[in-house]
Parts: sequence; C-alpha cells; structure tokens
Amino acid sequence: MSKVVKGIAASDGIGIAEAYLLVDPDLSFDKKKIEDTDAEYQRVDKAFADSIDELNKIKENAKDRLGDDELAVFDAHIAILSDPEMKKQIQQEIEGQKITAEQATTDVMDMFSDTLAAMKDNQYMQERAADVKDVEKRALSHLLGKQLPNIAAIDKPVVIVAHEITPSDTSQMDKKFVKGMVTDLGGRTSHAAIMSRTLRIPAIVGSENITSSVKSGQQIIVDGLNGDAIVDPSDDEVDEYQKKAADFEKERAEWAKMVDAPSKSKDGKDFEIAANIGTPDDVVDAVKQGADGVGLFRSEFLYMGSDHMPTEDEQFEAYKKAVVGMKGKPVVVRTLDIGGDKPLDYLPLPKEMNPFLGYRAIRISLHDPEKIFKPQLRALIRASEFGPISIMFPMIGTLAELRAAKKVYNECVEELQKDHPGIGKNVKIGMMIEVPLAAINADKMAEEVDFFSIGTNDLIQYNFAADRGNDAVSYLYQPLNPAFLGLINHVIKAAHRHNTKAAMCGEMAGDELALPLLMGMGLDEYSMSATSILRTRSMMSKLDTKDCAALVEKALDMDTQEDVEKLVKDSLN
Ligand code: PEP
Ligand code: MG
Repeated sequence: MSKVVKGIAASDGIGIAEAYLLVDPDLSFDKKKIEDTDAEYQRVDKAFADSIDELNKIKENAKDRLGDDELAVFDAHIAILSDPEMKKQIQQEIEGQKITAEQATTDVMDMFSDTLAAMKDNQYMQERAADVKDVEKRALSHLLGKQLPNIAAIDKPVVIVAHEITPSDTSQMDKKFVKGMVTDLGGRTSHAAIMSRTLRIPAIVGSENITSSVKSGQQIIVDGLNGDAIVDPSDDEVDEYQKKAADFEKERAEWAKMVDAPSKSKDGKDFEIAANIGTPDDVVDAVKQGADGVGLFRSEFLYMGSDHMPTEDEQFEAYKKAVVGMKGKPVVVRTLDIGGDKPLDYLPLPKEMNPFLGYRAIRISLHDPEKIFKPQLRALIRASEFGPISIMFPMIGTLAELRAAKKVYNECVEELQKDHPGIGKNVKIGMMIEVPLAAINADKMAEEVDFFSIGTNDLIQYNFAADRGNDAVSYLYQPLNPAFLGLINHVIKAAHRHNTKAAMCGEMAGDELALPLLMGMGLDEYSMSATSILRTRSMMSKLDTKDCAALVEKALDMDTQEDVEKLVKDSLN
C-alpha cells in the first residue's frame, strides 16, 4: 500500500524516482574492552583508507560542478585522514586502554577538534575543527559499516529526502540526477523552496515527517503541483502520475511560445516580468525563459557560495557577468542580505533569540560600511559601466536607514569618479519594502528612491508575525488577505504618486491568484523564479486591466483570504 505524505507545494512539476535520504545514520556504539589490539588497529587503518577512497571518488564525481574552494575541502579531509600523528595516537589509545577502534577514534579526534575549536580568535583553526568533526563522522561510518549520505556522490536518478536542504547541499548536487526534493521543514518562501524553483526541481517542503516515512531506495513520487509525496506507489499510481507529468509538460510547451512575446495585458498595457537570481550563472536560464530583466539578484548567494568574503574585484566580475549576460536588459542587485536564515560561515554573527528580527541585511552593512558595504557598492558601480544596473537596499525600515545607505553609496560614487568621471550616472537606486513601517511610510520613502521592490516573503512574515520557515504557522502566509492587499495597494499607489516604479520580487509576484489583483493595482514589474515567467506572461496576456481593477475594489472590501481566493478563482473560470 502506498502512503501519501502531505506538505507544501514548493516547486512545480512531478518527479518519480527512488528516495535518497540525506539524513545521518546512527553512529553510536557500545563501549567495551577488547583483547586483540592489533586486529582493532587494523580496523582503524582500513576505515581510514576506505574513507580516503570514498572522498577521492566523491571529489572526482563532483569536480565539474564544484569550484576550487569547494574541492579543496575534500583535500583537507584527506590530509586529516593521512596524518600519521593522529593515527599513532589512536593506536596508542587502543593498546594502552584496550578500547575499541570506534572509541579510540572518537576520543582522539574529539581531542584534536576541541583543541582547534578552543582557538577562539582564529577563524581558520575553528573551521579546521569542523573539518576534523566531519572526518571523524566518516571514519566512524566505515567502522560501523554504515553509509553516510553524500549529495555530491549521487550518480543515478533520485528524490532527495531531508530534514532540510541548505544552499550548500544544492550547490553540490548534480541537477540531472535529482528528480525531486521533499523536506520535513520549510515554508513556501523558505530559501530551500526558492532554490528548488530556481533549479527547476519539483519540490515539497514542510511535510513534517517525510524523513521518518520513507527509506533510502523506496520509490517515491513528488507532486510539486499539489504538495503530495507518494511513498511506495502502486503501478497504477505511477501510471497516473506519469500522465500528469506529461500533461504538465504539454502546458509548459504552450507557455514556451511566449518567450519572445512582450509582457502585456489583453488590453495592451505594458508590464515587465523579470527573474530572481542567486548567481551570475542563473542569467542563462533567465534569458532562456524570456525575462524582461533581473528584478532581484540575491547577492548574498555570492557570499554564501564562497569560503571567504568576496573581494571587490571578485564581486565586480560577478556583477559584470550578470549584466553582460542579460544583454542590455536591466539587472537589479540587492546588497548583502545576510542574517536571519542566511548565515555566513566566515562572518560569525552573535547568537540571537530572534534572528529574523535581529542583526541582518542593511543593519550589518551600515554597522561598519568600510568593511562589507563599500566594497560591494564600489563593485556594483564599476559593473554599471557594462550595462544597466540598479542597486537596492534590503530590510530598510526607517528613512534614516535609507538616507544612511544612500550617503555611503554617494561617497563611493564620488571616490570612484575621481579616476572615472561620470561613472555611476546611470545607476538607479531602490529599496525593498519588506519592513511594515517602510510600507506604511511609503509616500515619504518613494520621494527618495527610483523604485520600490516589495519583498512579500518578509513583508508577510513581519505583518502576520509568522516565521516564514516554520510550517506550523504556514497558514498565516496569506498574500491574498484583504488587509494585506490594502497595504500592497497603498505601497503601489504611493510609489506612483511620486513617479517611482513599483516592483515586487517576493514569491507573491509569481502567484497565479495574486496576478490579476496586482495588475489591477498597477504594479509595474513582477520578479519571480525564472520557471514562472512564461506561465505568468501567458496568463497576463489573457487579463484585462479594467476587469482587474474592478476585482481589486471587490477584494479590498472582503473579510478573509478565503473570500478573496474564491473571488479570484471565480473570475478566472
Ligand atoms: C522577500 O523578502 O520577499 C524577498 C524577496 O527577499 P528574501 O526572500 O531573499 O528574503
Ligand atoms: Mg526578504
């Protein structure tokens, strides 16, 4: 009998393959005394040799996909396993204490990693401590005959099943083998969900218990359209979903016809549909999907994909690559939005009770502008020589923050203009609207920027006081709640009163039911995962803005999100 596990549909499409559990096996062992110390040490020797073989294989497998920095991690782990001093100490422990290979390996490697971790001011050593811990896990898995999951080693079609999936997991995997992803944690706007859409992998998040409902190797269907994961499906179910997948592909082929079409309503009003990207390489897909531009380049992914703070020159190259790749179409780069659920290994941030309400984004940039903010702004201004770049600031709450950010920007322009007269003159400056106060104060804010980009993922989380990554409160993700729609309408109208462009780059911009309402409010630009662009453009071409405006009138008068959902659905049928 098949079993259906329900979650939140996070990325369109159907995937069918065997499950690959990205969950660490139980590596506990019994403490006991042994007699044959030689044989015990032989086990360590073999486990280390097998670990080295395994790392070499993974590295070989991943070498076309990973950068030098990421590949170097494998070498660092191999070096630890090859350290004669470490092995000698393990051998002495076994002989002296008559303890098992597992116990001696754990004792000695824990001691090494604790010593390194104690060097509090030395970040390099702290990172090495984490490496030793990783290696210890691998050696133990070989001693205990258990398989550690390894996303970089996947070389056949699978559905990844995990508690949660991090950007570093997605950067290591070979997309052609990953047919779907299902996680216990996450909401529709958690970053794992956003990544799955960028990668075009059918995905379900927030299922709560998928990791305890399926074993590695069991067949699983991911229905990313409805949020159902079917474990151990019957032949009939497989047939049914294969048909559903084929229908979805047909629909996709229909949308594909819109790739060179303008983003226009049925009554001929022009809009822009842009792509959200995380790395300069994503522009290839954005262009393929017919994006009118990039409406959100989440620059923090450049930082998260690196093992050091990217230098001004490294960033310049990345922004230049993105803008050149877009071939004259505008690229909006958001300055670093780190903190919250996006940590940076090499920038340790204080532990906080409420990271989403804490030290993040522009608050970090403005804390010590010389350190992070200025190199980023300089790189962006320099890249603007190669195509139209706009810069926007994340998490602005007050006018003072906006002015402080603009002041640093203006200082950078002045400094650069000393050697490059005129540089930066075409850069447009905007801000994200994701803090409720900024939305309320939109009239004043609009006077001081060229554009707004409404970040509904955070704006909803902060307005409804509901953590966007917590599936227990995901019912409060209510983009169509009439009170929230009123706020969005206020922001758009305030922007237009001051000749400021109104864009949206949160997930709501690609939401089918929100589209008629946003068009009715006059939103100018819709920025979304590249995979949603053609569907949105196709739908837009069938909607009349006058009908949409009338729909907004009605929606704003309603009481609940369900009322509005029904109103929009009825209008579309
Ligand atoms: C948002 O908050 O809506 C947004 C687009 O930013 P992010 O999802 O990266 O927080
Ligand atoms: Mg945000």
